[in-house]
Amino acid sequence: MKSKKRLLVLLFLIILIAACAKEPIVKEKKIAEETCKNECEKEGKYCIEGGYIECGNFDIDSCLEVGLSVKCPENSYCVNSQCIKKEEQPSEEPIIEPTPEPISPSTTCQTNLDCDDNNASTVDKCFTESGLCAHDSYVLCQTNADCDPVKLGFPAKCYDIGEISACLTCSSDDDCRLGYCQQEPLNRRKCISRLKGQINVGVIEFKSLDTQFSNLFYCDEGGSKMLRSPCFENSQIIEEHNFLDVFNNQDGEIVFDTFIGEQHALSVYYLPTYIENQAQKYGITDLSINLDVEGPFDITAPFPEAEWTTPIGRPVIGSDKLLEFFTEEINKQNIDTSNYDFVFILFFDDWDLKGRETKFTSTANFVYTFINVQTSGPPGVTDDPLEAMIHEFIHLFEAFDKYIEPCPRGNYWSCCKDPDGLVEPNKIPKYPQNKACLMCGGIPLNEDGESQAPQDLFEVEICDKTAEEIGWK
Ligand SMILES: [Zn+2]
Repeated sequence: MKSKKRLLVLLFLIILIAACAKEPIVKEKKIAEETCKNECEKEGKYCIEGGYIECGNFDIDSCLEVGLSVKCPENSYCVNSQCIKKEEQPSEEPIIEPTPEPISPSTTCQTNLDCDDNNASTVDKCFTESGLCAHDSYVLCQTNADCDPVKLGFPAKCYDIGEISACLTCSSDDDCRLGYCQQEPLNRRKCISRLKGQINVGVIEFKSLDTQFSNLFYCDEGGSKMLRSPCFENSQIIEEHNFLDVFNNQDGEIVFDTFIGEQHALSVYYLPTYIENQAQKYGITDLSINLDVEGPFDITAPFPEAEWTTPIGRPVIGSDKLLEFFTEEINKQNIDTSNYDFVFILFFDDWDLKGRETKFTSTANFVYTFINVQTSGPPGVTDDPLEAMIHEFIHLFEAFDKYIEPCPRGNYWSCCKDPDGLVEPNKIPKYPQNKACLMCGGIPLNEDGESQAPQDLFEVEICDKTAEEIGWK
């Protein structure tokens, strides 16, 4: 009898150890993957064929973009980011072939009025020092219909600004329902939103026609209960829940009694609760997120090709391309997103159930977030998609990632910044930390940068520096 009891205790311990064993640190890597790619090599102005470009960080992400792009006039070449006339070319310099494309003489100018870069849709600016004409980033318009968000890469309206009308996100603070209008480099004005007040958020879900979902199982493991996907061998299924029913459950969570206490299967409707609770931690009490979920809709067109792959081979489609693809789907299926301040576009991706490549890596741009939701589940328990959604959403409010990639302290793909990526930077000893910062993703375990994935959203916090960035402090 006694030995039978001992056997039971042993069995219980084995189950407990099995249940506590964490998966390898995949999650924090996954969040690190959604970073951007440098469009140009180094900051500053430098020569390209037939002209020069300005390379710098002009937007929210940490990568470099091409800003100014100048074509040198006919009979001139670029030397040290300047267009030099052919006869001025120093004889010792190697001859650089001029661009074969004919450029009209009007690309040289004295004032903005006699300046035209031959692109009809852009406003041109005369750079008086060089006498060169180059396009500014204004796109001319007469009505709002001329400002196609897909072509522009950002949502815009047609605004009068001085002598011209241009497609802009805003022209003054009054145009921003939330936040204020900020002049971006090269005139890409945009509303800088604050995560405060009443905010309308739409979640538009997409899937493929044959998307496979793994369900969530409530399992009886010899007297003890646990949520799994699927149940262990030899354990009984008490309840089986459909992935989408769990993910889209309107109550926000389903609570299950288990032998470790409670397990919460969180749904997409938990997102406002999580963010509002975090805001209250910083004394922000007027935040109210109104969330609508629509779908899932079947996509009708094949996905665009990946534009590049991450160092571990995950395909990345840039947010401009994703916006173009999904906007087309939204239009085709007559989905109205006009009432939303922010739009989540979710795609249910069954890549690992079907043994093929994932479609794209989650990203954010202006008011849109594009989230790849892995359907191999279990939905709502590991909170992976929910955490990715909130992480990307927070990016829309001028918040930056709090990880460094690659990790400078140890041999890891990425690690959390110290102190900005630590929930308790003043803890003694500092490591291991108990929770993860949302904008880093992993729970840091030691100085070297090792970390583990949080078990659920209850182990993830919006940390001080991020709160500061989004206007909560
Ligand atoms: Zn990020």
